[in-house]
Amino acid sequence: MDSELKVVSVKKIAGTPKRQRNKLAAELGDAIAGHNIDVHFQPQFELSGGRCCGVEALARWMQSNGSETPPALFIPIAERFGMIGAIGVSVLYRSCATLIEWSEFAARPPILSVNVSPQQLTEDFSAVVESVIDLTGFPGSCLELEVTETTLISNFKRATRCLDACKELGVRIALDDFGTGYSSLDYLLKLPVDRIKLDRYFVARLGTHRKAEAIIRSVVALGEDTGVEVLAEGVESEANLKTLDALGCRQGQGNLLCPSVPADDARSLMREPWGARFKTGTRISRPDDGGLHAA
Ligand code: C2E
Ligand code: MG
Ligand code: MG
Repeated sequence: MDSELKVVSVKKIAGTPKRQRNKLAAELGDAIAGHNIDVHFQPQFELSGGRCCGVEALARWMQSNGSETPPALFIPIAERFGMIGAIGVSVLYRSCATLIEWSEFAARPPILSVNVSPQQLTEDFSAVVESVIDLTGFPGSCLELEVTETTLISNFKRATRCLDACKELGVRIALDDFGTGYSSLDYLLKLPVDRIKLDRYFVARLGTHRKAEAIIRSVVALGEDTGVEVLAEGVESEANLKTLDALGCRQGQGNLLCPSVPADDARSLMREPWGARFKTGTRISRPDDGGLHAA
């Protein structure tokens, strides 16, 4: 979760009256039991060349009255009320099962990133991941678990044990929202990290904060020197894209390239380089703005 969302969600959950919070928690429990937590996908792209290099699975909760509750609100509730394990397994299973069915990726699926909450990192977590890999047939080497620095700080030893066990399955590890938490370089030293996801906080400040460029350049160099891939989150404008490319950042994710969309839309958007859509004038909007449309 990026820093702004984290602050919003803490405020939201703290500012939500207890009765309303309990009501939401009860409704969330019903949604989980009824398999009504959906998964959307946000493709990730190489910045030069535009090839799709991965996709992130994101939980979605559409309530029966048609309103969507954002993850920034329901994930903290799920964590607080002991429901995050169920959501986590469901998102992991559904996203692996979805991608493995896409025949165009039969030879090798794209990297699939799935978010993991601190409470999920219990001793049996790697067994859960292994079961999902076995049941779906999704290759472990194409699965990436995204953890945040906050996930790690709560119980570093246990988290390292869990992630090491997952790594033995061939699974990749990404540090999500990098740069806004504790940013301990110790994580890079002690954890088997494959990718850093630079928080959108820094990308959003390109052009307005003098030091943002220098920080991104340093993280890119850090990635290169340690053999860790670097992806920039929150690529929202062509100016962002140009600067990131010039700073040597190779991968990006963001609303300019493609927002999070339902599985079928993601499937077709991942087949072509993102640049092709700019040439044809096709712009992608969020599903609640009407989904795919030609500009
Ligand atoms: P995240 O893992 O950092 O995911 C990226 C979030 O940024 C997503 O929000 C995505 O829709 C949004 N985003 C992508 N590109 C842009 C952009 O260009 N500009 C802006 N402003 N936002 C962009 P979403 O889907 O609302 O998810 C928010 C957070 O909720 C996620 O942040 C993640 O921390 C958490 N989350 C979502 N799904 C899951 C899940 O299945 N499990 C867990 N544990 N957490 C989840
Ligand atoms: Mg993430
Ligand atoms: Mg993130």
